[in-house]
Amino acid sequence: MSHVFPRHTKVQPPVAVAGEGCYLIDSTGKRYFDGSGGAAVSCLGHGDPEIIAAVQEQAGKLAFAHTGFFTSEPAEALADKLAALAPGNLDRVYLVSGGSEATEAAIKLARQYHVERGETQRRHVIARKQSYHGNTLGALAAGGNAWRREQFAPLLVDFSHISPCYEYVLRRDDESACDYGQRAAQELEDEILRLGEDSVIAFMAEPVVGATSGAVPAVEGYFERIREICDRYGVLLILDEVMCGMGRTGHLFACNHDGVVPDILCIAKGLGAGYQPIGAMLCTAEIYSTIENGSGFFQHGHTYLGHPVAAAAGLAVLTAIEERNLVGRVRAKGDALDAALREAFGQHPNVGDIRGRGLFRGIELVSDRETKTPFDPSHRLAATIKKAAFAEGLVCYPMSGTRDGRVGDHILLAPPFIIEDAQIDEVVGKLTRAIAQSLPKGSTGRRQ
Ligand code: PMP
Repeated sequence: MSHVFPRHTKVQPPVAVAGEGCYLIDSTGKRYFDGSGGAAVSCLGHGDPEIIAAVQEQAGKLAFAHTGFFTSEPAEALADKLAALAPGNLDRVYLVSGGSEATEAAIKLARQYHVERGETQRRHVIARKQSYHGNTLGALAAGGNAWRREQFAPLLVDFSHISPCYEYVLRRDDESACDYGQRAAQELEDEILRLGEDSVIAFMAEPVVGATSGAVPAVEGYFERIREICDRYGVLLILDEVMCGMGRTGHLFACNHDGVVPDILCIAKGLGAGYQPIGAMLCTAEIYSTIENGSGFFQHGHTYLGHPVAAAAGLAVLTAIEERNLVGRVRAKGDALDAALREAFGQHPNVGDIRGRGLFRGIELVSDRETKTPFDPSHRLAATIKKAAFAEGLVCYPMSGTRDGRVGDHILLAPPFIIEDAQIDEVVGKLTRAIAQSLPKGSTGRRQ
């Protein structure tokens, strides 16, 4: 009997024993292509000798020094590098252990910023439906995924949720993408006015929505308009790039594409690339100086803030992304993956949408392409595809959003940046077989 408390108590997962490049290997020797990098984590693939050496070296030198007393060389170097590369004046970096810690810290920093400026009446946070910002209670309150929230609802702070920018489903036929984006963004202003124009702390959103929707980018102009609205009402813009950041979309930061600089930016997953647990919250000089000139103390903190070994891993990963020109590679391989997905599924009767940026791609499954009708949730299609793909030796990230209203089933792909063209074919081939086996009986695209 295993004493590990697994995610699903009724399923005993295989034991992963090794990682080699894009593959994970279990204790029976079976190889799995890591087509989603876990959950968009393993951007460099597995077993990267440079990152391993950086981790080993730092662990040998200094594994831990509490940030209540010390800073450390790798934390300083990583923060310098992130600040230099980040857009705009996001020049202060708060190093945490993962995504939820980053988004939690962002929410608290935003509130403290307003308090220090005497705007204590600001008490609302607005986020979006079909979003995920983490599993701690504050982050979960910000997220708009009904299923994840459901049983914890009595414990959650009452955040507002406006509609996501989800062109495939929410754009009307008589509307251009641009007009749709302006309409979607307008919901933010309407919500701010409803709550009270000087009562909102922050608006939080993922530039490209990951786990809940399957790589859904906003339409052009949406975030520019969001930025304008935030500025008009003194609302801080928090962008959650925990999943879509660190080069994943073909930009080092996903918001580079939108030409928008947030007040607070959260990153995680790809920063440690799986070699260490690490995340970061970046904030503007203005927010930092408000705290510095006010109480001088951000009233937050975890024991493992700025962990030296994690910071060394983050620094090595960031250096590798830069020195190996991986962002350029993500764009090229992302285009190739997109082309392969369109070739395989462009005419598929049960694939309604193929979307994403860089090596962050999603496909949405529908029972009817014309009407965009999702499959009945009772089919548990995403879960079935996940299982079938795993049996084929492919780790991908299918999710079902059907409990959340209209989303339906989608599959997220986020392979390592080192993926080769032949491996793109391998991923798409395995996925094609997994989908064909999993579609409900009677679906046009099912393998009979
Ligand atoms: N924000 C986003 C956008 C995420 O995708 C995730 C993780 N899936 C989180 C926050 C939470 O990150 P973690 O699981 O590292 O706490």
